[in-house]
Amino acid sequence: MSETPASGPPGAPAPPALDRILRDPGFCRHSTGRVAVVEWEAGAGWSEPRVQPYDTLPMDPATLGLHYGQAVFEGMKAFRGADGSVSLFRAADHGRRLGRSAARLAMAEMPVDLFTWACAELVAADERWVPGGYGQSLYVRPLLIATEAEMGLRPSHSYRCVFLAYPADPCFGSGFRPLAVTAATETVRAVRGGTGEAKCAGNYAASLLTRTEAQAAGYDEALWLDGVERRWVEELSTMNVFFVWHGEDGPRLTTPPCDGTIVRGITRDSLLTLAGGLGLPAVEEPTAIDAVRDGIRSGALAEMFACGTAGVVVAVGRLGTAGEDLVVGDGREGPVTARLRGALLDVQHARTPDTHGWLLPVTGPAAAADEGEGRRA
Ligand SMILES: *Cc1c(COP(=O)(O)O)cnc(C)c1O
Repeated sequence: MSETPASGPPGAPAPPALDRILRDPGFCRHSTGRVAVVEWEAGAGWSEPRVQPYDTLPMDPATLGLHYGQAVFEGMKAFRGADGSVSLFRAADHGRRLGRSAARLAMAEMPVDLFTWACAELVAADERWVPGGYGQSLYVRPLLIATEAEMGLRPSHSYRCVFLAYPADPCFGSGFRPLAVTAATETVRAVRGGTGEAKCAGNYAASLLTRTEAQAAGYDEALWLDGVERRWVEELSTMNVFFVWHGEDGPRLTTPPCDGTIVRGITRDSLLTLAGGLGLPAVEEPTAIDAVRDGIRSGALAEMFACGTAGVVVAVGRLGTAGEDLVVGDGREGPVTARLRGALLDVQHARTPDTHGWLLPVTGPAAAADEGEGRRA
């Protein structure tokens, strides 16, 4: 296999040597130059995945997905293990969530085995693009979009799913500098019954203004509160949140429950599971912004962190709310945050046993064994 992709994004500068990219990939700065594509047509159903050179999408300006927002996506990662083999992390769970997001927007739901097949084909083709550093990965971005040209408002009769791949550091940088977040006061991200739980394009468009204003005010992210009482903490625009409270018997973790307004983060779920194994009690619990503020002031709230596939696990060191700017703990990353991130990355890089069946081997001996049994099975 050659060092450079068969074909890069049109108009992109010729990529420097692959080794140089992999040493300092940044977050999704360099496409691998390949995509996987799966299509759906009414009547015909789903195509088999095709891995092909990266290219622009041919689109009629009347495309339904552009006008009415039938567009959902995922963000997932493939990691290199200690033995050099590559595995996707919780690929089937990402496929299931893409299906739920698609169903909410009346889009065709891709079978989970087709989703994981396409991801595995692309990652296998891009094997040399998977960096080896701890915390580094090949980020895979599946985008499912309605492709039919039609002015009337109705579900599309055709869809295309394009899987993009990029070598990546964690999106806030490999140093995991604590974030500053500010609670949104004017806008809301989601209400129960809406689309908040779906990873749909419209949710991100709706969050951009407030996020941009938060950044102009010196914060990294907006912290979303519920849309009814404007009181209950929900999540960030791309990450879930956890709180670490001082308990009588040591730290106690809470995270807001998923009741329709927040994205069911796979990182969030992984951390709830891993925390239990580390002897850290972790529960889903509604948390009011005033309880967070009081907890920071009294010291009852020891740590706060955000989590998601792209950013992994990153401390929240500063919180703006109701005109105040509060420092969480000493503003630095706390020990529980660091421990959970380490536990997650150790599983992802196969440094600890995969007791939950979260890794899908794509290359190496385990993948070869799977291939023998038929990867689609
Ligand atoms: C993707 C996303 C998350 C995190 O989900 P992961 O599965 O952990 O990557 C959290 N909140 C929002 C709004 C998201 O889009």
